[in-house]
Amino acid sequence: MSEGATPPSPAENVLKRIDVGIFVLNNNFEVRLWNNFMAHHSGRPSEEMLGKNIFDVFPELPKPWFTKKVNTVIMLNNFAFISWENRPYLFRFAHNRPITGGADHMYQNCMLMPVNNENGKPESVCVVMFDATDTAIATNMLKDALDTLGEISNRDGLTGIYNRRYLENRLESEFDRTRRHGGTFSMILFDLDFFKKVNDTYGHLAGDKVLVEVARRISDQLRSSDVVGRYGGEEFALILPETPIEGARIFGDRLREMIELEPVLYDNMTIPITVSMGATEYSAGVESYDKLILQSDVALYASKAGGRNRLTCYSPELEAIAVSGAKH
Ligand code: GH3
Ligand code: MG
Ligand code: MG
Repeated sequence: MSEGATPPSPAENVLKRIDVGIFVLNNNFEVRLWNNFMAHHSGRPSEEMLGKNIFDVFPELPKPWFTKKVNTVIMLNNFAFISWENRPYLFRFAHNRPITGGADHMYQNCMLMPVNNENGKPESVCVVMFDATDTAIATNMLKDALDTLGEISNRDGLTGIYNRRYLENRLESEFDRTRRHGGTFSMILFDLDFFKKVNDTYGHLAGDKVLVEVARRISDQLRSSDVVGRYGGEEFALILPETPIEGARIFGDRLREMIELEPVLYDNMTIPITVSMGATEYSAGVESYDKLILQSDVALYASKAGGRNRLTCYSPELEAIAVSGAKH
């Protein structure tokens, strides 16, 4: 303070020290007030800012949007609010949180208030800016945790591929989508042959390793739109969008052969594995997605009954073979 200058009023002191950004713009977007918080975080002192057009100093501000926002506040003589959830920040300021917090800028909530001139007409806007970084970091962490939980609840614990719950949801949505928009898709159900014997011969841990290995090999072969999941103990399912039954047969047979040709190695043991498969394609006559599961199960049973290590495509005649009840 220079000698002879009037000491700051209590209100000016508060404005200076408060840990909230406060600035005022007139209807030409010239700065009429710029408090210490704004000065500190922008690196531009109040003396430098007063009288300047805000867009000249901060060309990175979203001009059309912010202009409209301010003009609306003046025109309607009403408050407005800008939430960090819609727009993370107005000014890109650094924050003082640890880098590990996951935010690379200060999140801001802003309140815009009309300021009246001496005739009671609104002609300026006071913007009050709150640092919302802590809330944003906590909310984002919670969202991430919920996403992770959601992802975990869709996964099979042993193999890491999708579980039955997710498979059925996906099958239902694929079914509804195809029924509404046309096109087709296929599904394959497959089951490891004589797996009980694998456990009995090589041990349960070896059996687990086989399940993990089969899941990995299949996953490696999939297109990004295909879905593989563990449907039950040693039973898996594949959903193949945009794939007619002929394509499913070729793809399934390739997977079956791949599994047959490469035994699983575990603890110095070489474990030969084969799988039996049942495939079916969506058709307009099928009334619900679970009917497709039944159809692939019928086809799978036919593969088992026919000698295993093969793929069968569903046809209504197969129902007769399965009447005694499929067990695999
Ligand atoms: P089939 O060719 O008719 O399918 O004969 P299978 O022996 O595979 O059929 P079965 O249904 O009799 O046996 C399935 C076996 O799969 C029995 C069960 O102990 C085993 N199994 C199921 N889940 C797991 C698992 O998570 N780990 C291991 N190691 N074995 C499992
Ligand atoms: Mg089996
Ligand atoms: Mg089985």
